[in-house]
Amino acid sequence: MPFKALNLSDSVLRGVQAAGYTDPTPIQLRAIPVVLGGGDLIASAQTGTGKTAAFALPILSKLGAHARGQNARVLVLEPTRELAAQVETAFRDFARFTDIRPVAIFGGVGYGFQRSELKRGVDIIVATPGRLMDYLKEGTISLRDISVLVLDEVDRMLDMGFLPVVKDIISRCPKNRQTLFFSATVPPEIAAVASFSLRNPTRVEVGVNRSVNKSVNHAIYPVSLEQKFDLLLALLEKTDFDSVLVFSRTKHGADKIARRLKAVNHSVAVLHANRSQNQRIEALAGFKSGKYEVMVATDIAARGIDVAGISHVINYDVPEKPEDYVHRIGRTGRAQAVGDAFMIVTPENAGDVRDIERFIGQKIPELRLEGFEYKAFAPRAPEPMASKPHGSLPGTIRHQGGFRRFKSRR
Ligand code: AMP
Repeated sequence: MPFKALNLSDSVLRGVQAAGYTDPTPIQLRAIPVVLGGGDLIASAQTGTGKTAAFALPILSKLGAHARGQNARVLVLEPTRELAAQVETAFRDFARFTDIRPVAIFGGVGYGFQRSELKRGVDIIVATPGRLMDYLKEGTISLRDISVLVLDEVDRMLDMGFLPVVKDIISRCPKNRQTLFFSATVPPEIAAVASFSLRNPTRVEVGVNRSVNKSVNHAIYPVSLEQKFDLLLALLEKTDFDSVLVFSRTKHGADKIARRLKAVNHSVAVLHANRSQNQRIEALAGFKSGKYEVMVATDIAARGIDVAGISHVINYDVPEKPEDYVHRIGRTGRAQAVGDAFMIVTPENAGDVRDIERFIGQKIPELRLEGFEYKAFAPRAPEPMASKPHGSLPGTIRHQGGFRRFKSRR
């Protein structure tokens, strides 16, 4: 079914066309009619499924083509600054043939620009809870005209401790609003928040919660703890990367990996919650433009970031929760591109790896990097892959090319 059949407004259809989308994704097909119909919604969908457009397009259709220029009519809450910026950009893109004004409100930057934007009048506020609360308390923003409230990535928002402020924000919105929840998972805490903030919600689930993108090749690289970093370096050297996202469990760990990679002349960006907003913007922009070929990130910071052309994800640390593996891997292999996902695993990670495999319902092949001097190698498979190290996976795991240097891409 094409977008045309979904009853979206003409200006939004033009926006969709300009964005280059031809057919709606499953979450869009199922959520758009519910949102257009005015009903409340709980949608389980992770990033990468097209969920932003699933709410942005019908919301824009309902707002019409003209700005009202006073209090916002739509509020979208996002857990991180990066997501707030990204979702606001998506609204702006889809709304390019209207004069609707979206504004992003998030912390870590000065108040001046946001205040002046708010003064000009807004239609859609895309905000992180903390900074929004600042404006609500001082009376710069009023939520009394909100007709649609979207809580995006609700599970992550609650994980980050935003529940009290989110509840406060919900209670400041008019009762007769429409409320939409988007969450990768819907654990009981979310059901509890949903029960006081949604009315007869329609549940839409796209069956990807546990599934990893089919176009991604996975591999585990077992190594001893002391050789973890050396193996990362060897992987970067022996693999034909375009751009690679390296995941660390901790902020401190991310900084350390970045420092060590820089010391051997890799161009590296770092993304985690302790970095200033300007540093984060610079890191993302630099990674997008190809200035940095490696980005080291923590789970929360990387949640939802959408950078075209991430060819590889390397899990330097095994993720803490199995669902984080799916989120991490969702960063590569987007929009039909093929991506590779490597996980560096030490013997103490065996239990975590089993949990991940159970969660995604597939066994991840174990590989040994040819040419790397292992001090110890303890594969769990009975026959190590040494005889055919990389031929066992289809697709693009290539270890012959070497790292494509930054200068060669300019
Ligand atoms: P999201 O899940 O909203 O983060 O979207 C993931 C990616 O899919 C983004 O790069 C979107 O631009 C892209 N996308 C969303 N909907 C479509 C569509 N119908 N056709 C093609 N690409 C899409």
